[in-house]
Amino acid sequence: MTAKKIIVAIDGHSSCGKSTMAKSLAQELGYVYIDSGAMYRVVTLYALRKGLINNGKPDVEKVIGELGNIRITFQWDEKTGRNTTFLNKENVEDEIRQLEVSQNVSPISTIAEVRHEMVRQQRENGKNKGIVMDGRDIGTVVFPDAELKIFMTASPEIRAQRRYDELKEKGLDVDFKEILKNVEGRDKIDSTRAVSPLKKAKDALVLDNSHLTREEQLNWTLEKVKERTEQL
Ligand code: C5P
Repeated sequence: MTAKKIIVAIDGHSSCGKSTMAKSLAQELGYVYIDSGAMYRVVTLYALRKGLINNGKPDVEKVIGELGNIRITFQWDEKTGRNTTFLNKENVEDEIRQLEVSQNVSPISTIAEVRHEMVRQQRENGKNKGIVMDGRDIGTVVFPDAELKIFMTASPEIRAQRRYDELKEKGLDVDFKEILKNVEGRDKIDSTRAVSPLKKAKDALVLDNSHLTREEQLNWTLEKVKERTEQL
């Protein structure tokens, strides 16, 4: 008998390794992986390109008006072992990770209509289960009935260091202090915003990975998936 498929919702602070873990988990399980943060990043990139964000302030009406013109898709790249994000068929995977997008994404993600549209698309992706999705509101808003919810966190300094290393590896010229400021700033906006703030779902399991290796986190999570699927 093949195991029943479930929905795994992974939420948590920025840069604490959610995507890395979610990706490996999906690969191990043969599930679909959706990076919900990438979707908010795509909207942000689109708005930046159209000049709809000035001094960190989005032109809310205009951004809402453009939502119908933004088509977000994902494709698994066998060669790189990475999920690639597309904006209207253009590969924007690298561009959406740059600091300018990171610095403007939180205000964009506080717009209720933007969230509404992203959540609609996210639910569409999860309707057949067998999905791992990571973000901020997956266990609380997108899939409140997900069979497994994990809330990941790590100290801000450790998270900033990880993002710094990642960007350095890509050859980008970055400043640690600026990244730490961005991590702490995003935590604040994400946790205090009026619409879908980042918070742990009551039934989520906490995974503080400050001192865990990737393999330890993956094994811990696989064990939880096994437990949940056996209960079905
Ligand atoms: O996960 P990542 O850091 O790429 O997400 C980028 C931003 O998108 C977050 O800082 C947050 O503001 C927003 N986001 C969100 N809800 C999600 C996922 C991401 O508001 N489900």
